[in-house]
Amino acid sequence: MENNARTVCELARASGIEVTGVNKATCGNPLVAKAMLAGGVTSIGDSRIENIKTMRSSGIKTTYVLLRSPMKSEARSVVEHVDTSLNTELEVIRELSAHALNLKKVHSVILMVEMGDLREGILPEDLPDTTREVLGMEGIELRGFGLNLACFGGVVPTSDKMNRFSNIVKEVKDNTGYKAKILSGGNSANVPLLLLKGDPSPVNNLRIGEAILLGLETVNRTLIPGTERDAFILQAELIEVKRKPSVPSGTISQNAFGETPDFEDIGTITRGIVGLGRQDVIVEDLEPLMKGIGILGSSSDHIILKLDGEHKVGDVIEFRLNYGALVHSFTSQYVNKEYLGDLEKTPNIK
Ligand SMILES: *Cc1c(COP(=O)(O)O)cnc(C)c1O
Repeated sequence: MENNARTVCELARASGIEVTGVNKATCGNPLVAKAMLAGGVTSIGDSRIENIKTMRSSGIKTTYVLLRSPMKSEARSVVEHVDTSLNTELEVIRELSAHALNLKKVHSVILMVEMGDLREGILPEDLPDTTREVLGMEGIELRGFGLNLACFGGVVPTSDKMNRFSNIVKEVKDNTGYKAKILSGGNSANVPLLLLKGDPSPVNNLRIGEAILLGLETVNRTLIPGTERDAFILQAELIEVKRKPSVPSGTISQNAFGETPDFEDIGTITRGIVGLGRQDVIVEDLEPLMKGIGILGSSSDHIILKLDGEHKVGDVIEFRLNYGALVHSFTSQYVNKEYLGDLEKTPNIK
């Protein structure tokens, strides 16, 4: 994890960009946060305030960025526990301002601009007025602007998009006199632009999760040179191994999830069941690490495998995780989190 963070941070630094390490997929796991910081990220971002509280109370000192726009109802807690939040609604920022005054704190805000992906963002034409309003709010420090692509609409951050963002920011400056300190240009989908090493980047910050956690850029999900793909692996234990037909017998209707399954008859096969299921993980986001093992299907608490070679009850099957599986397995209380390697001997991670 530390090495992945270092690789990504060095890549970003070559374009004049600092990295906010995004740790939401691990529920704000403090060891992962420490590894990211040891690898060179300059702040930690998370979408959930609970996760930020977890990392803070583990004694990790850094700047914490709340990625999901705060709920009005959590504004006080945001001011208490978070340094910077990404925002799009004046009503919420007013609430943050009131609590900041109350708590005698200054809360930093980055305004997110809608650039076409249609998740969070202030429409560009509304940005000058919103900026002026926020600059007038007590207890709030406007740190800059951000954008987020490739999350809802799958819009690719091209250099054209980034330049358009930069022009919008320039117009706001001409309009209001405000000069942004932070231009937060996106997420792991921006890594291909970094790899191109084209024009100097118009932004100076990226918020990066998956590229560090899984070593993948998220436009085509290719491995970033110098990163490790399997820093996380999921292990599950075989609870049944038997030779059985490949097709169920009887009248077939719906399975436990209301789906009508479809089976191909490939004769008698060795089938295995592991004690892990849809309650723990997105099964489609798993890939058995050992060649010859295939996933036939799953229910809430079981994954049914086609096995090849010698396997017996009690053996452990290992899986590679895609992002969805990583998120769910960290969220599942039934999945134990185990840290391999000697944490004592790893100087930067304790
Ligand atoms: C999750 C998130 C990120 C990080 O996304 P990755 O694809 O994991 O790099 C960045 N910005 C925001 C606003 C996010 O919610």
